[in-house]
Amino acid sequence: MIDLHTHSVFSDGTNTPAELIQMAEDRHLKALALTDHDSVGGIVPLMEAAANSPVEAVPGIELSAACKRGTMHILGYFIDHTCPVLLEKINKVREGRALRNQEILKRLNKRGYVLMWSDVEKEAGEDVVGRPHFAEALVKRGHVKSRKAAFDLLLAKGRPAYVERYRYTAKECIELIREAGGVSVLAHPATINLPPDQLKGLVYGLAECGLGGIEVYYAEYNPENMALFGEWADQLGLIATGGTDFHGGNTPDLKLGTGFGQLRVPDEALDQLKAALK
Ligand code: AMP
Ligand code: ZN
Ligand code: FE
Ligand code: FE
Repeated sequence: MIDLHTHSVFSDGTNTPAELIQMAEDRHLKALALTDHDSVGGIVPLMEAAANSPVEAVPGIELSAACKRGTMHILGYFIDHTCPVLLEKINKVREGRALRNQEILKRLNKRGYVLMWSDVEKEAGEDVVGRPHFAEALVKRGHVKSRKAAFDLLLAKGRPAYVERYRYTAKECIELIREAGGVSVLAHPATINLPPDQLKGLVYGLAECGLGGIEVYYAEYNPENMALFGEWADQLGLIATGGTDFHGGNTPDLKLGTGFGQLRVPDEALDQLKAALK
């Protein structure tokens, strides 16, 4: 059993990379990839923790690509976390996040939600600050009942406190991951929110840009999603990868490796990612 999609305190997860490795060991996972949003800060601690563990650690990242409708995320595996171009480009994204965070705060304050930057920062861990941290801070301040309510009411795309931020195109994300020596995978294609025929066209275009894989195994998929994406992987010669998208306490019902209980990501996915590097 392996898990190729997890988050730590370096983005919006609640566990340190070392804790993730320990949990993976306890759950008898063979391998675990860390895929924090726009951050490679967790990779050194991850590799250090895994050095004394039977769990194989895979360095990764999750980039948000520009997407008109829904949400498009591109995962990068086996990236060189010291690659100067990668660091420079993710820095630009992080500057975009900083600007956006101040604007979100302003919008919330303007609507009468008493909230300070320090409240939000307190929710964040080591590195990237994002909307989930705003959501948590809004709950703590008693403005909303739950994280979900914070998104539904204020923070989700189209809601009053939603602010765009700088993103690379999917093609740029794929090229950046390749430049950093990694292999790219389209994460949870269902969140792109296109009808199947259009989504397939999009995936086809990304494959032509050098996309290496597609997330076929994902905790929140229904069996139809999985069958469809598996079929596309076969047809387009993409590696069928997968993972839980574990965020620790932020995804309390979800278990590392098995998701909501049914998920099994085949070990071959990792072997194929490695083969694609050569
Ligand atoms: P950000 O990268 O700051 O835009 O935040 C994106 C993260 O917010 C995602 O990875 C999700 O964890 C969370 N998120 C986005 N939209 C929603 C939503 N509608 N409900 C709950 N969580 C969401
Ligand atoms: Zn996340
Ligand atoms: Fe994602
Ligand atoms: Fe994720």
